[in-house]
Amino acid sequence: MTPHVEPDPRAGAAVKAADRAHVFHSWSAQGLIDPLAVAGAEGSYFWDYDGNRYLDFTSGLVYTNIGYQHPRVVEAIQEQAGRLATFAPAFAVDVRSEAARLIAERTPGDLDKIFFTNGGAEAVENAVRMARLHTGRAKVLSAYRSYHGATSTAINLTGDPRRWASDTASAGVVHFWAPFPYRSPFYSATEAEECARALQHLEDTIAFEGPGTVAAIVLETIPGTAGIMTPPPGYLAGVREICDRYGIVFVLDEVMAGFGRTGRWFAAEHYDVVPDLMTFAKGVNSGYVPLGGVAISAEIAATFDKRPYPGGLTYSGHPLACAAAVATIRVMEDEKVVEQAAHIGETVLGPGLRALAERHPSVGEVRGLGAFWALDLVRDRETREPLVPYNASGEAAAPMAAFGAACKKNGLWPFINMNRTHAVPACNITEAEAKEGLAALDEALSVADEHT
Ligand code: PMP
Repeated sequence: MTPHVEPDPRAGAAVKAADRAHVFHSWSAQGLIDPLAVAGAEGSYFWDYDGNRYLDFTSGLVYTNIGYQHPRVVEAIQEQAGRLATFAPAFAVDVRSEAARLIAERTPGDLDKIFFTNGGAEAVENAVRMARLHTGRAKVLSAYRSYHGATSTAINLTGDPRRWASDTASAGVVHFWAPFPYRSPFYSATEAEECARALQHLEDTIAFEGPGTVAAIVLETIPGTAGIMTPPPGYLAGVREICDRYGIVFVLDEVMAGFGRTGRWFAAEHYDVVPDLMTFAKGVNSGYVPLGGVAISAEIAATFDKRPYPGGLTYSGHPLACAAAVATIRVMEDEKVVEQAAHIGETVLGPGLRALAERHPSVGEVRGLGAFWALDLVRDRETREPLVPYNASGEAAAPMAAFGAACKKNGLWPFINMNRTHAVPACNITEAEAKEGLAALDEALSVADEHT
């Protein structure tokens, strides 16, 4: 339960005025946005200054995996701040060592060395640098339907349209099509066909780029922002085999799918694959303090045993962020958060979202697992024409905006991207909260249905 908070619209207006005057917001036309002023948050909810409370089906930007203001994590940050608020990365610091140990123990295979960053994009930048130095090759392959971050190399690897404005520096980045049975780039009829064709396409891409020039293949284990597209069985194992055959470094980006989101510590576990490098961020400490990193295989770590690794960050492994990670991971163990994500996906979110799809013609497909779900909204289920065109804005995006407004009216804060809405709540969302979210979605989908 959230505490009772007195509405205070005047305070909210002051927050908004200062925001409008001085905060330059990400991904936005500054004059066209009207950000909600947030007064507080707890667990799966947040609230504004006008007395409206929202069930957060976005968990921030898919990162508050244990919800807002978990007391044990807040206390751990406070305790660390009182003891040693900061210390430079070249030193061994207890809380940093402990965070690295807890992460390494949970990552698959021999990914036992942790390079800390401040977030996901920096993790991807460094994974690419490690792969290039390890192989002595320059090219990096990534998927069109992907998101890897907004810094130079990470945005170039990103497949979604946000890449277009920053694409001039994309030396060495080559995009390919990863499988997506619902909107198959290979016109496949079955998952097995999609898998086989996608692997052949990747082989062909490598053959024409020159196998000896490709340093890394970078994939999200389950592409998140681009649509929570669970790969067909065998695909990731097939990519692993291709990487082994050509001496290419396999990088799995688990920034969004990692740390319990899919009902396992890491999504790679669902597919029995171990990459050479794995990026993480977000859920590692539920985003209470910025933290990301790269988990590194023994072989790649050995490359930098006698030769220096030419990369680093002032705040790498920041003690406050590491204290939050240690506390978060312990909370996840003690409160069985990973198991809860799996359970809520299997028993409430999965069945509930599929039931919505039966009632609402605007739902073309339900995809996902754990606390990681997408509804692909369509104008026409037969043709699968998206409810709004690819990369729609303004009037073209109006049906999704109307859907979003209906969610908010019903107390649900939705994640909306193009023609999709994602149900990505905290991994420890309760059954009652998940059902409340489904009921709000049910009402809002009726608005989307009007556009079918
Ligand atoms: N990789 C993936 C898979 C992501 O989802 C994101 C963020 N949404 C990033 C990288 C970038 O992370 P950050 O915003 O922390 O730089």
